[in-house]
Amino acid sequence: MRIPLLDFGRIAPEEKGRLEAAFRRVLESGQFILGEEVAAFERECADFLGVAHAIGVSSGTDALLLSLQALEIGPGDEVICPAYTFFATAGSIARVGAKPVFADSCPGCWNLSPQEVKRKLTPKTRAVIPVHLFGQPAAMTNLLAVGRENGIAVIEDAAQAFGASSDGQRVGGRGLLGCFSFFPTKNLGALGDAGLVTTQDGALAERIRALRVHGSRVKYRHEWIGGNFRIDALQAAFLRARLPSVEAALEGRRRNAELYEEAFLASGIAALCPEPCRCHGEERTAPKVASQLLLPRNTAGEHTWNQYVIRYPADRDGLRRFLSEEGVQSEVYYPLPLHRQPCFLDRDREVDELPVAELLARESLALPIFPGLSSEEIHRVVDLIVRFASKNGKEA
Ligand SMILES: *Cc1c(COP(=O)(O)O)cnc(C)c1O
Repeated sequence: MRIPLLDFGRIAPEEKGRLEAAFRRVLESGQFILGEEVAAFERECADFLGVAHAIGVSSGTDALLLSLQALEIGPGDEVICPAYTFFATAGSIARVGAKPVFADSCPGCWNLSPQEVKRKLTPKTRAVIPVHLFGQPAAMTNLLAVGRENGIAVIEDAAQAFGASSDGQRVGGRGLLGCFSFFPTKNLGALGDAGLVTTQDGALAERIRALRVHGSRVKYRHEWIGGNFRIDALQAAFLRARLPSVEAALEGRRRNAELYEEAFLASGIAALCPEPCRCHGEERTAPKVASQLLLPRNTAGEHTWNQYVIRYPADRDGLRRFLSEEGVQSEVYYPLPLHRQPCFLDRDREVDELPVAELLARESLALPIFPGLSSEEIHRVVDLIVRFASKNGKEA
């Protein structure tokens, strides 16, 4: 039995039908860039996410870049972001000429903790970009308070968390700006690249719409220097076709996370990650756990389980090789934290010690969790891992 990380072939027939209809609709319309299809998609997303403005763009990376450009962040400015995230979060900061300042992650929720953000503030800090990593909402209420107290913007990187919520609000709509990706592996996936910027601020929304088309509001008159950050009408139509199924898909991801948790805990060799979440002031001190496998926790808000990431401190890479030999695909998100990436190692910068980011990069392994996965497949993955860990434990 081969178990992939994602199997696009398992889309429900009715959803496939809607995708095919969307293709025909756009083909017949002859409008392939922006237009009515994109406008409708933006309205539907704004409704779903509970925001005033949603702007469809070319990718999640471009959503981040546009957000920073719209705030006129550039050379001389600093932007705080996690070291343990996908590269685009920090790459976009560097691309506008600002300095990414890497902060450590909270050991409980693996997101940027407000305390770490405070430690990294300087007079040059203009913004902070928390990431709702793997679909777990970051501590927005506390992060927004840090932002307010220090006069800095909070830009949410919600690329992995479409549909997640905290304190009764969808993520992406809480910060000054929210950035989403519709890369095919995300909670809502296009059939190619696409992204979205959200905001409650009308003036910022207008600026971003202009920056999306070379900084122009009136054709051939350029008030700012933007770029081509447009979303294809075809991708917008595909995403509209998939949006009605997204709640069911998120439900499927949550069910799979529960199945994993039940099966792993029943095996007797796994435990929930014992580290307390500092963001939410959890007092729990970490009990000594003899178990070797550590499971992710939904620390607060509604997790969307874009990834199910376990930790196996004893031999993560060995476990991954074993799974691969048995036909089970897994992935390491992310093997090298961003503060250690070659492109950010400049000579005048000392490499920070960010122990939680380092630990997660060393121990974490993402297992298949896409909505179409069967419970039989999940039990097979768990059985294989338990077999490997038990054997490994005896030899150690
Ligand atoms: C996927 C992702 C992005 C970038 O999105 P693209 O659409 O691939 O450009 C940015 N940040 C995070 C955290 C992501 O997971």
